[in-house]
Amino acid sequence: MRVANVSGRLALIDDQGAAVDVERASGGRFSSSPQAVYDEWTRFRAWAESAELPPGEPFDARDLGAPAPAPRQVLAAGLNYRDHASESGFDAPEGLPPVFTKFASSITGPVTEVRLPEGGHTDWEVELVAVIGVEARDVSADEAWGHVAGLAVGQDISERITQLQGPAPQFGLGKSFPGFAPIGPWLVTPDGLADPDDLELSCAINGEQVQKSRTGNLIFSVPQLVARLSAVLSLLPGDVLFTGTPAGVGLGRDPQRWLADGDELVSRIEGIGELRQTFVG
Ligand code: ZN
Repeated sequence: MRVANVSGRLALIDDQGAAVDVERASGGRFSSSPQAVYDEWTRFRAWAESAELPPGEPFDARDLGAPAPAPRQVLAAGLNYRDHASESGFDAPEGLPPVFTKFASSITGPVTEVRLPEGGHTDWEVELVAVIGVEARDVSADEAWGHVAGLAVGQDISERITQLQGPAPQFGLGKSFPGFAPIGPWLVTPDGLADPDDLELSCAINGEQVQKSRTGNLIFSVPQLVARLSAVLSLLPGDVLFTGTPAGVGLGRDPQRWLADGDELVSRIEGIGELRQTFVG
């Protein structure tokens, strides 16, 4: 099942790739809010699986918003692939990865234009994003998929000067400039993927591939992240979890490389879809 935000309204994407408006198709039983649906995710899934849906309407990818546009919490894991920890000059984490937030105002839909912070070093990080569907508190890894509504493609765009300045890193600010958290193109429920624990992810700048790995290489898988994070705090319906990026970011290159005016960044995950960001100076 693919759940989308089309022009700010909750929609299901049908087999033809067209959008079925949920509020209208459900006779008002579910609201048009793409964020509110997570508060009644279990009832929504049951309805969506059995409902007789009307024909969908075509839409443009630019009309898509984030599938979770206003989460109460955004959690992001750092150093969650061994090759990226290594290129960043850190040991691979044990127990817990470093966890930070991307402030919610940085979230956008999948196809956007992003303004480069002046004088910054703006970098790319393709990541699998999980959205919570059922509150998780002290859940085991075995139970964790049952708390995940679905998966999307994310970009953890990062301005490295802000991120790394001062006596301790500023992850939250360096990764929260406007447009720095595109998510999409929609949410795919775990049962809609052949193996939600092992998906190819990649990104390319102007057609040149710069990152490519598989989520099977995550040090802490989605279920392990949900288990370990929920041992500390409650993960709430609609919360967004960035799971970390593999090697190939600009910071880890020699020479280092940053996004520039006119660059187009395309980020893909197998079975989910793609994001497309154009950068302007
Ligand atoms: Zn990241």
